[in-house]
Amino acid sequence: MRLLIASNNKHKVREIKEILSKYYTDIMSLKDAGIDIDVVEDGTTFMENALKKAHEVLQASNFDAVLADDSGLMVDALDGAPGVYSARFAGEGHDDDANNAKLIEVMKDVDDDKRTCRFVTVAVIARKGKKDITATGYVEGKLLREKRGENGFGYDPLFYYEPFGKTFAEMNEQEKNSVSHRKNALEGVRKALEEEEK
Ligand code: IMP
Repeated sequence: MRLLIASNNKHKVREIKEILSKYYTDIMSLKDAGIDIDVVEDGTTFMENALKKAHEVLQASNFDAVLADDSGLMVDALDGAPGVYSARFAGEGHDDDANNAKLIEVMKDVDDDKRTCRFVTVAVIARKGKKDITATGYVEGKLLREKRGENGFGYDPLFYYEPFGKTFAEMNEQEKNSVSHRKNALEGVRKALEEEEK
């Protein structure tokens, strides 16, 4: 069985291969498969976006299965924002630095005990002739007032993970992948595939 990953992000592809290689003989990114497709992520939930991406890519390919994911940061004091708008919180075409600067600014008057947040990933496998597999993964953290660490991407420098006493940007890739929202969602997908085999 071949699985197409609806992404070209090398880190994601590596992580997905590690977790799902038992269930798929061949796992490929869009680039590996020679597919150039841009799915507009205009949903209002992570689930809507991940389902849309997985199904549009499945239609455009000759693979039996396509895995898509959608992620973001949800801050309690902002009623779950930036959420599905995480990549463009500071506006269309802005980068991680601008998004982090905006988040620091809008959170500046929020007390320490009200700075809870979580990263969320919804992972979906769409399959020809079979029902979808969906799983949601979370990781809980505290939003710092200034950036710490150089690793990772996105909001990692502001996301403080208490059990390790570090931000995600102060962790190496292996440490982050051992607790991340993406890992937890992929584990959910792996468990669902395992259940099907029983
Ligand atoms: P995507 O759906 O994985 O492309 O994530 C959308 C946006 O959410 C990214 O552009 C980041 O701003 C944010 N995000 C998702 N996952 C992470 C993470 O692991 N660390 C930091 N930011 C993340």
